[in-house]
Amino acid sequence: MDIILSRYGQFCLGGLVLTSLASCSAAKAEHPNIIYVFPDQMRNCAMSFWDSPEYAGIYGWQADPVQTPRLDGFAGESVVMSRAMSTCPVSSPYRGMLLSGMYPERNGVVLNCMSERPESTLDPEAVCISDVLHANGYFCGYIGKLHAETPMKNDPANPGHYVSDMVPEWDAYTPAERRHGFEYWYSYGTFDEHKNPHYWDTDGVRHDPHEFSVKHETDKAIEFLRNRNGERDPHKPFMLMVAYNPPHSPYKSTDDCMEEDYALYRDKSISELYVRENADTTLTKASSIRYYLSNVTAIDREFGRILDEVRELGLEGNTIIVFTSDHGETMCSHSTYDPKNSIYTESFNVPFMIRYPGVLRHRVDSTFLTTTDIMPTLLSLAGLKEMIPQSVQGRDLAGVIAGTDMGNARESALYMRNLNGKTGIDRTVHGYFPEARGIRTSRHTMEISIRRDGTLKGVRLYDDIADPYQLNCLDYREHGKIFRELCGQLQELLAESDDIWYRTGTLEKLDLINKNK
Ligand code: CA
Repeated sequence: MDIILSRYGQFCLGGLVLTSLASCSAAKAEHPNIIYVFPDQMRNCAMSFWDSPEYAGIYGWQADPVQTPRLDGFAGESVVMSRAMSTCPVSSPYRGMLLSGMYPERNGVVLNCMSERPESTLDPEAVCISDVLHANGYFCGYIGKLHAETPMKNDPANPGHYVSDMVPEWDAYTPAERRHGFEYWYSYGTFDEHKNPHYWDTDGVRHDPHEFSVKHETDKAIEFLRNRNGERDPHKPFMLMVAYNPPHSPYKSTDDCMEEDYALYRDKSISELYVRENADTTLTKASSIRYYLSNVTAIDREFGRILDEVRELGLEGNTIIVFTSDHGETMCSHSTYDPKNSIYTESFNVPFMIRYPGVLRHRVDSTFLTTTDIMPTLLSLAGLKEMIPQSVQGRDLAGVIAGTDMGNARESALYMRNLNGKTGIDRTVHGYFPEARGIRTSRHTMEISIRRDGTLKGVRLYDDIADPYQLNCLDYREHGKIFRELCGQLQELLAESDDIWYRTGTLEKLDLINKNK
């Protein structure tokens, strides 16, 4: 750990901070617990409070007809970030950015992790939020889906082999030396049987509980909070990340969700369940929404159990709780079968609610929050602003979230889509291809995509105020002034993130920005 931290030159005082925290209860109170809960593939519109009077008019679209009473209540106690965007809206790149505060190229996770993309993996030397918290006196726990590491032939029960005989392998075991300061572990790579999940614990022992993963992971989270079996060091503040897999697909049968939740949606017609004007219910995927909404309701209930436990244990006042998701789900919108990896609102915009009683007062904030901002913002709210590593590329938005300092506020959000780089004869992928970059502002969504030879492939341009469902793709040549302005703003975001499009002058080569600028 010392080597990792000193590499970035930020943590020479880490040991001292640790000592003072352990010996001074007054200092401890300055460092709240953090509970970060993030289901997979939950779109922002899948929460019913957006249709209530307080939130009416924020978007111009309707919420899904879903039951989320606990999230609705939690929103009323939280700062609700209405423009939280998942910069690269697929699982692994989100997780790499969440943990490291760096963009994919810097943290290593440029594509979804699987055995044929061995180069796409979280850099073991990247300083993660859990590394910083651990070095500053926190106890960190991780429960659920990680999916930020390439699968390796390191099955603890079958040395020299992957954890299953899948080809290619997606699932992974994360050994202790790659856990980035997390001392409690109950996790897996990626695996999509919601009622037959498995996990490796802190000691590398596999568990197959044969029950609905969301309930099981909540039970484990409650055990962690209660600490009956010594799950954590009770003298330290803690951070617990809970990474549920639902409402991720599959969406085929009640093998994929709980019957009690499915009963809420089973008898509704397809037209009742799809309220978004851009939904194409002729897709064969259309019936999936019953299972999707069922699992959102399950997430709601189980998240509520965590909230209840926090209250019962008297931890409410000194615990920051975040509810968010790694990316959204198009669910038949825009006639696409691809649920994510697009700039469409349903994929790009995620829930983000943060509660910290006594510090944050409930309100809706419409400034942008992007994935690399989460790590520095949480560290700052946890009293560790000075410990944010130099490697972090995102912004500390603690002042924005508190409503006290808008200096770092974002007026736009960067979007990126990467595809496989060159594929070798053994199917191994080398590098990545940055196919698209885009921007979302308070008014517009704009995406530019290129072909592999670097020429322009296409432009998507939407006026999100006039057209909240993004039904009308504007011709960028007919809206030249707006388009050029957006290209200029996109270039600023590409520069801020030191993106490959910036370094290779992609927008200049396409003649979309002034070459002399
Ligand atoms: Ca995901």
